[in-house]
Amino acid sequence: MPKNTTINSTSINDLGEFGLIDHLTKEITPKNTSSIFGIGDDAAVIDMGDKYQLASTDLLVEGVHFDLAYTPLKHLGYKSVAVNVSDICAMNGVPKQIMIGLAMSNRFTVEAIEELYQGVKLACKHYEVDLVGGDTTSSVSGLMISVSVLGEVEKDRITYRSGANINDLLVCTGDLGAAYLGLQILNRENAIFKENPKIQPDLSGNDYVLRRQLKPEAGIKYIKILRDLAIVPTSMIDISDGLASEALHISKHSKVGITIHENKVPIDYTAMNLANEFNLNPITCALNGGEDYELLFTINQEHYDKLKKDPDFTIIGFINDIADGNNFIANDGSSHPLTAQGWDSVKNK
Ligand code: ADP
Ligand code: MG
Repeated sequence: MPKNTTINSTSINDLGEFGLIDHLTKEITPKNTSSIFGIGDDAAVIDMGDKYQLASTDLLVEGVHFDLAYTPLKHLGYKSVAVNVSDICAMNGVPKQIMIGLAMSNRFTVEAIEELYQGVKLACKHYEVDLVGGDTTSSVSGLMISVSVLGEVEKDRITYRSGANINDLLVCTGDLGAAYLGLQILNRENAIFKENPKIQPDLSGNDYVLRRQLKPEAGIKYIKILRDLAIVPTSMIDISDGLASEALHISKHSKVGITIHENKVPIDYTAMNLANEFNLNPITCALNGGEDYELLFTINQEHYDKLKKDPDFTIIGFINDIADGNNFIANDGSSHPLTAQGWDSVKNK
């Protein structure tokens, strides 16, 4: 074997994102007594006396998370803040401060970065957070935006992924799958434009799904409603990677099983029609699409009456014993194992 050839070469793809995080961090345990919870939830939890401080960070990379061919910079700025705020909401907290790390190549003008910041400032105003710092540097490969967010939550309101109990109700906010369909429209129109730049993109009539993809909102209004209703969820996560994947996180962390009913999953009717146009099954878009930034949480059944009439919330299933697994009950009543890829046979009609 030639010198310098290593036999220890493991492809990152073999581990996957979550496998890699587990692998890198498995021996890390917090040493400071103020570090209440570190890696493994939507935000880290830090003791600050009367309350907990929440901290989270998210990195958006050009070509991976966004394509500037069809992403307005103002929307991108807004979204980069909103997705971080969403992780604070997922702990039942409210955001307070953000910091922004920016790396850009010299193809960006001052005006372009100003546009990005218009979106950042708009989001800061909307979510009532202060931009308190960051870092700016150059890059050889496009634009990268790293946002870190700090938030707060009362100690008796903090909600982890790990607290779901058997017989709890599984609830999601808003509707699911639309952001993925917005992306399909943008990809389709971008491909047509690349083929023939004279053809203008046809985005008409798709405002809702496009907004869901380009300018998502974090669920702070739901956090406020839950507070007003005196409900503390037993577990919660934000839906960034699709309903199936997030439900499985709650299952794993809470050591319970989850059952989701297809006929309960909320899907906007425009998203439903578009899914048909793209020959996709709408429920697959909801289960696997991602980027909806809705909240998925569990509550004790005693709260059922408080939530049942509010259209912001939909009860989509319940928590069962871990021994009974994670299940997806299709519209025809058949039961299927819930996997991170959703239920395989619904992938394409
Ligand atoms: P989310 O999707 O809610 O943003 P992630 O899936 O990105 O969360 O991360 C899961 C957990 O792993 C979080 O607690 C996050 O802080 C942690 N994490 C992610 N990447 C790293 C890393 N490179 N080093 C240490 N912790 C990480
Ligand atoms: Mg999250």
